[in-house]
Amino acid sequence: MDRPRITVFDTTLRDGEQSPGCSMNVEEKLRLAQQLDRLGVDVIEAGFPIASDGDFEAVQRIAASVRRPVIAGLARACTGDVNRAWQALQGAARPRIHVFLATSDIHLKYKLRITREQCLEQAREAVRHAKSLCVDIEFSPEDATRTDVAFLCQVVEAVIAAGATTVNIPDTVGYSMPEEYGNLMRTLREKVAGIDKVTISTHCHNDLGLAVANSLAGVQQGARQVECTINGIGERAGNASLEEIVMVMRVRPDRYPYETTVASEHLYSSSQMLAEITRVPVQPNKAITGRNAFAHEAGIHQDGMLKNPLTYEIMTPQSVGVPDSRLVLGKHSGRHALALRCEQLGHQFERRELDEIYRRFVVLADRIKKVQDSHLLELIHDVASGNASKGDGAASHGKKFPPAAASLPLPRAAAAGANSNDAHPAQVSGSAGQAPVSIPFTDHHSEQEDYLWGV
Ligand SMILES: [Zn+2]
Repeated sequence: MDRPRITVFDTTLRDGEQSPGCSMNVEEKLRLAQQLDRLGVDVIEAGFPIASDGDFEAVQRIAASVRRPVIAGLARACTGDVNRAWQALQGAARPRIHVFLATSDIHLKYKLRITREQCLEQAREAVRHAKSLCVDIEFSPEDATRTDVAFLCQVVEAVIAAGATTVNIPDTVGYSMPEEYGNLMRTLREKVAGIDKVTISTHCHNDLGLAVANSLAGVQQGARQVECTINGIGERAGNASLEEIVMVMRVRPDRYPYETTVASEHLYSSSQMLAEITRVPVQPNKAITGRNAFAHEAGIHQDGMLKNPLTYEIMTPQSVGVPDSRLVLGKHSGRHALALRCEQLGHQFERRELDEIYRRFVVLADRIKKVQDSHLLELIHDVASGNASKGDGAASHGKKFPPAAASLPLPRAAAAGANSNDAHPAQVSGSAGQAPVSIPFTDHHSEQEDYLWGV
């Protein structure tokens, strides 16, 4: 029997970007959107077009260049916002306008200063207007989980009648418990006329650490879209983590028999790319993508792992794209292996950019004892941001990225394979406009093990 399909709605570029320290420029958003496309998400919420010119431009550029997923733009429930969102989405192959309006009494009274009747009318009008522009309309009653349930049902029914095709139920303040959130979904399905014709969506915040559990409870009670972010970034304690939701469904189909189109082997590279762009590291013990997520330190665990990985491993590192621990790069590994490693960290480069990264990598390998993924990400960041520094990234600023996973240097022989066809490091040219860089080359063979790195 076919499992129900869950629409994965990624809001890393909108809700995620609202987290302190996570703002991104247009180029960075575009790069991340292309990665989300590779990852296979169904919907990318690209921004909040009326919020700033930068947000508008990001939505416009993403809409023009990322063609497979639905591209959503957020709008408050008013004509100006909806028009601006629609303007930004003009070039999209599959545009969606996402309209929101708070519905809880506390928001109505203190934030919006309107009555429930005015709220109902405003939601209906905004959706009707959006529908006159765009077929695909999502509506979110903000703070839904603290909204009077009868009133919530009334609003949801009104927006469906006005043309909404997805109804999202935000636990805006991360207050709900899983059973409670699931029950709310069930109530909506039982009481709201027309709800069977639309997609119900979850949007959970992690203030009590329950965002993923709440989202899954929603899915079990009929939600068919989940809103989530890479690394769970988002307002305050963040949103539900995309990688955790996807892997729960993959590892425990007996309890969560649902399908997503996410290519889980791109989860790790997506996580690393986000950390590199925002310069906000992933917490080491973060499920799925933290550097310790697949590390085994306790002796008895290591012993079990060596005898049979299933003793302590419920999923393989490879299934989420954590680079193969047997791939070890040394300074003699050459461009091909370096390019592969960059790809595993979420970056694909043109030949010229790769030359520059390779040049800096070799310089760095000459200078420090051990080159980690974090150092490589620094180099990538420097090259991507056009940092003119001739030095290596690892030394150019204090911030560090988390290494990918536990380092497992292997014997020298393991690193030798990839280098035979690549240019000798001493012959590598600099980037465009620069004279070929002459790299001091001394014999490092006796120290080569020190340069081996990997995960
Ligand atoms: Zn949110």
